Amino acid sequence: MRTVTKVLTASALSLALLTFSGCGQKPEPVGGATGDVVAQPFAEVTKINGQIFGTFYYITVPGGYPGGEDTLRSDAQFVFTKVGNAISTFDPSAEIARFNEHHSTGDFPISSYLANVIEEVQRQSRRIGMAMDPTVGPLVNLWGFGPKGQIEHSPTDEQVAETKEYVGLDKFSLRRAGGTAFLVKSDPRVELDLSTIGEGLAADELAALMDRKGIANYMIAIAGAIRSKGANPEGKLWRVGIEDPLSHGQKVFAAVCPQGMAISTAGSYRNFFVDDETNQFYSHVIDPETGRPIAHRTVSVSVVDRAALVTDALDTGLLVWGAQKAVDWGNKNDVAVYAIEIDDKGQAKETHSRAFDIYLKCKVHQNLTQTAPLE
Ligand code: FAD
Repeated sequence: MRTVTKVLTASALSLALLTFSGCGQKPEPVGGATGDVVAQPFAEVTKINGQIFGTFYYITVPGGYPGGEDTLRSDAQFVFTKVGNAISTFDPSAEIARFNEHHSTGDFPISSYLANVIEEVQRQSRRIGMAMDPTVGPLVNLWGFGPKGQIEHSPTDEQVAETKEYVGLDKFSLRRAGGTAFLVKSDPRVELDLSTIGEGLAADELAALMDRKGIANYMIAIAGAIRSKGANPEGKLWRVGIEDPLSHGQKVFAAVCPQGMAISTAGSYRNFFVDDETNQFYSHVIDPETGRPIAHRTVSVSVVDRAALVTDALDTGLLVWGAQKAVDWGNKNDVAVYAIEIDDKGQAKETHSRAFDIYLKCKVHQNLTQTAPLE
């Protein structure tokens, strides 16, 4: 028997406490930007929140959204539908869900949008030695964390080994011909699971939509993926808090100013089960190499980068690797990585790559650039 925990909180990135707090300075007029002050406080703010993809979202637009809450909600819904239609494994009519049900090695046509997403995911996966692997779905299901529902007992070693036979980036290919894109399985049992990048993709899409509308200030938080731009309602840099993994959503461990970049966090302490017979803890993050949930002491990894799809892809794989390897990789590749692990005394301790430093000092930084998300 097992006890399952899936906590539907905002994410491992907690917004509530620090989003609106400054660095103890009074807001100043734009033009004299010092510290974390980038604009005057805003008289009007549009805010919405709700549930999507089995989790929560929060959107704040200082200065107000054209058309107000209703338009913001319908723009957000438009994006959620677009992303869901492409990559949901929970909606049987979504492209990925239908591909998973296509038990054949024949061509499966997909939209060019989904093809672009998959190519980006493949690129990010290769960067981190396939520790984030979009074919991991059958293992996710085997361990009871996927759309096929929970399990009563942990799978046997034989079941894990058999499932691993059709997990791996080399088990499918994507090709384009005559303006159409196709996915091809090398084994009819192959399945794709892009859940790990879904929130990041949606945050990027909505950020792009708002950019096209000329919105200068916003924060979009979908579960653990955040895009922000400009100033918060007080006219200061946006701040988000990386949650203290031991506080059950009550405490912020570190304040981060993403400065227009994307940030996301993958955590192993929110969605897990404990096998009552063995008292073993099993996280929803699966190590594709072993085919088993990660079992080390690193409990969260946050990444800041140009797009939330990228950070969402990297954070899961880097969490698979654990704090030391993740931060070493960040230092070698100039990527902003922040990891929290639980030490021998049960205390949470952090380690981060050099590139993360500037996001921990909440001072205006001019030279950061994002790239446009996928279209
Ligand atoms: P992350 O750490 O970002 O990702 C962990 C998830 O990625 C795991 O749950 C697993 O699915 C997968 N994964 C595990 N290990 C790896 C690995 N090594 N490499 C790659 N992937 C890995 N959930 C519901 O309960 N009901 C729904 O209706 C529902 N609909 C969804 C619709 C969409 C479009 C998406 C994208 C997700 C949906 N989900 C739904 C899934 C749910 O919200 C997931 O928990 C979430 O997407 C995973 O993100 P995370 O931030 O929790 O964890």
